[in-house]
Amino acid sequence: MIEPEIESAPWEGQAAQDAPVYLKQIEHLFDRSGFYRDKLSRSGFANPRAVGRLDEIAKLPFTEKDELRQSRSREEPIGTHCTAPREEIVRIYSTSGTTGTPSYIPLTAGDLEVWIRTSSRSYAASGVRRGERVVSTYNAGPFVAGAALASFDRLGLCHIPIGTGNTERLMTAIDLLQPTAAVMTPSYALHLAEWARQRGMDLAASSVRRLLVAGEPGGGEPTMRAQLEAAWGAVVTEAMGIGDISISLWGECEQKAGMHFSGRGFVHFELIDPATGEPVPMVEGATGELVLTHLVNRSTPLLRFRTRDHVRLSVAPCACGRTAPRVRCIGRTDDMLIVRGVNVFPSAVREIVNEFVPAVTGVLMIRPREKGVRQEPPLPITVETAQGADIEGLAERIRARLREKLVFTAEIALAPAGTLPRSEYKSKLIEKP
Ligand SMILES: [Zn+2]
Repeated sequence: MIEPEIESAPWEGQAAQDAPVYLKQIEHLFDRSGFYRDKLSRSGFANPRAVGRLDEIAKLPFTEKDELRQSRSREEPIGTHCTAPREEIVRIYSTSGTTGTPSYIPLTAGDLEVWIRTSSRSYAASGVRRGERVVSTYNAGPFVAGAALASFDRLGLCHIPIGTGNTERLMTAIDLLQPTAAVMTPSYALHLAEWARQRGMDLAASSVRRLLVAGEPGGGEPTMRAQLEAAWGAVVTEAMGIGDISISLWGECEQKAGMHFSGRGFVHFELIDPATGEPVPMVEGATGELVLTHLVNRSTPLLRFRTRDHVRLSVAPCACGRTAPRVRCIGRTDDMLIVRGVNVFPSAVREIVNEFVPAVTGVLMIRPREKGVRQEPPLPITVETAQGADIEGLAERIRARLREKLVFTAEIALAPAGTLPRSEYKSKLIEKP
């Protein structure tokens, strides 16, 4: 633990510690945030007193990403939720969105420090130790993932930045510099396993003993994790963050039972039912969408921000000594389909399909027929088979397993090995009509 006095403090005391910090943050919003002054007043909360205490937060409206987008203009390119004077902003990241103008995420020096501390707690949880060599594949360019790299310095690691898009260079660095840890998206880790296999290289014999994955769900799915651990001969742990709030907000420890909350004192989290917006009680095994509130952010503070990340919560004690709850990401609420009343997450489909490795490669594409969320069964899914695999009855077996585990009917088409698109960064699992 890099901050044991915080990370191992009883979780029950966290709300009481956060309560006064939250009140100050609400005052800051009324002072500086045109966005929240308007939004809260419109909803009947005209001043900090009306907003009330942290334990009353559920009565306040949510903040949606679209609202922030709509508040941007040429005069205010960041949005009206920006509260920092120009001269206090030390960095501005952009989102990796594929269309239109990116959204900008500014940070004051204090905000940047909060991100680095959060990320340091998160990556330390994986078990990496001072002096260990870690190779990273995130580009430290315009995107927030680059800020996570600063936490490696904080942890005293020997950081070997390689960046994305050059597998040859990465493999040479692993071979010659012998790092014991590697940081990447789970999609890229799988891609590298495939790449090595095709060249007759034994990745499991490499120096890498820890694989730290982040950037998308997958590293926490039991079948994909087992696949990665076998291919790399390494322990896989994952981390998760969201650019609008904080990088690496959640980090998994060596017990490998979910990602601990790493933003204690900086961010407040809630769980809601995405359909009704109602709070979900924080009990063992609860599932819902994460809603996040900044407690100390001074550049673009957000209140009850809907992340669209659907998670399963664990509040049971952890042997590592960290007392913060853990989550496992089930999928993005945005990617969820409803097949005749049943919620279907693409990542859950992938988890089932992965049970059929080595007959399948694990690469698949869900191809819904209807626009929008609601679908009539059967849901078309193309599954890539492995070279030389026995595919007799395979489609039917996958269909039956999906039916049994996820309670919806699929229509499985098999595709030859290597014919579906691959990603060196994040996997696309769904192709909307
Ligand atoms: Zn733990």
